[in-house]
Amino acid sequence: MTLLRLKPDAPWFSTTEVTDNIQCLSEPYVIKFMQSNIWFLRGRDADLLVDTGNGIVPLLPELSVEDLTRLIVVATHAHADHVGGLVEFPGIWCNTNIVEALKTADPNETLAGPGYALDDISAMIVPAPNLSGPLVTMQPNKFDPAQFGPQPATVSRALVEGDTISLGDRIFDVLEVPGHSPACIALYDAQNRLLITGDAIYDGMLVDGLFHSNRATYRRSLKRLLTLPVDLALGGHGQPMTGDRMRHLIQVYLAG
Ligand SMILES: [Zn+2]
Repeated sequence: MTLLRLKPDAPWFSTTEVTDNIQCLSEPYVIKFMQSNIWFLRGRDADLLVDTGNGIVPLLPELSVEDLTRLIVVATHAHADHVGGLVEFPGIWCNTNIVEALKTADPNETLAGPGYALDDISAMIVPAPNLSGPLVTMQPNKFDPAQFGPQPATVSRALVEGDTISLGDRIFDVLEVPGHSPACIALYDAQNRLLITGDAIYDGMLVDGLFHSNRATYRRSLKRLLTLPVDLALGGHGQPMTGDRMRHLIQVYLAG
């Protein structure tokens, strides 16, 4: 078994191996704020892809996926920087509260598409990141920034708190961790003390000021994550975190 391989002529994505069976894909030519992590976990019976990047360049054709039927694709939440590639997969899994939003690519949930520009996202965030420049630092063929935004996806499973996702040799519990957005989920593999956090917590500037963010709810979610035995946490942005680093970042946020 090998991790995902990028095709040799596929320069858009980069890959980093975190462990023997966990890999991070990212888009180095997207501006930092919108650069999200795409996590790939190789399991015994199934593989897991968590989030799919910005959709600026199609993800699937750049990957050497041997067997699409063993791939489970999960969206941690509906924001455009995480769900851009969902449309490429036959059926994706997400929180039940965003099924309709992802099926219709609702710009009010994805925060991109008709009616939205990067400046609008920037204006919703305090302190505002500077998003006034171009979205990408390398212009790929066929990409029109004016058309940026996810396409409608096919949802094949609606996830709720307490659901489990099995890869055969590891099982994730689905945790609802709203706050950054109303429908954020995290995936927790208690046996291996591994947490995939989406945008609930990551090593970078946390965003709690979007119009559908809720700071009180966010704090409750983070306090919950603080109680979990975690050795490795994989965030929606930034570097992988040790459990201690994740807990430190949460404490800093809660103290703020
Ligand atoms: Zn987000």
